[in-house]
Amino acid sequence: MGQVGQVGKPHRGLQISKASDWGYWGYLGPKNWPGICTTGKKQSPIDIVTEDAIRLDLGALKFDRYDFAFSGWITNTGHSVQIDLDGVPVHLSGGSLPSVYVLQQMHFHWSAEHTVDGFRHPLELHFVHYDNQYANFSVAAEHENGVVVIAVLFELSNEENPDLSVILKATNMVSHWVGKTMISIKKELIPYLLLPKDHTTYYRYQGSLTTPGCQESVIWFVMTERLTVSESQVKVFKRVMSGEYALNSTYRPVQDLGDRKVYHRLEGYSGTSSFTSSVVSSILSVILVRLLQSSENF
Ligand SMILES: [Zn+2]
Repeated sequence: MGQVGQVGKPHRGLQISKASDWGYWGYLGPKNWPGICTTGKKQSPIDIVTEDAIRLDLGALKFDRYDFAFSGWITNTGHSVQIDLDGVPVHLSGGSLPSVYVLQQMHFHWSAEHTVDGFRHPLELHFVHYDNQYANFSVAAEHENGVVVIAVLFELSNEENPDLSVILKATNMVSHWVGKTMISIKKELIPYLLLPKDHTTYYRYQGSLTTPGCQESVIWFVMTERLTVSESQVKVFKRVMSGEYALNSTYRPVQDLGDRKVYHRLEGYSGTSSFTSSVVSSILSVILVRLLQSSENF
């Protein structure tokens, strides 16, 4: 564990908003979030209805440098616990993405924001990336497909998840220091450990940031495989303070899917031993990907 209480150091991409701007309950809660949060048609999170998801081989995701051990910062933003990494950029590509995306930050929601067939998991981690053709996250968030978020769901287990322990220790330390104080971590943050082993199976859809301003510029990947978390580990997050109150929950309710589609990518689902059918399914995949891309550019 690194130094405690490094105050207010300007940092790449760290966005600390005033905790009083918006919140998760009461007058400042999601029903009163401004602008496109209320009027938008492609908002997140959503309930994923697995039966309705369209099977489509969009290709595997490529996680580049996720396995490095990074130094970084853990911050109580007043809305969440956020992790910012120092050092070389971490890249995401593949998955039929139109560009290469740079990891901006990671943060948690408790309980989960995305539900699956109506079921809400206790914890969800967001890896937030932006298109590297833009100068920074804020610019990218104003452009179609400018942002990609990888969502990882955690299911409850009797066992503690050891891969969360560094983050939870730091969370304990910043839980009372709203939006002002960060903990520095030395070479112990390995993003790869916070991804499920199966990088190939996911749900993908077009949506928005789940916090104000709710920009509808996000390609969402919700990983199908879950990680685990114990009840006592979830409690560490629930003790995080925002102002005078503990952040008992930090999720936005699910939004209408509207006319959007959710795609489900399964490893090898289109692969068969028959040459003909695999060629046919490859061609179909290409056509479907093109259709998907053209509808996304609409
Ligand atoms: Zn989030």
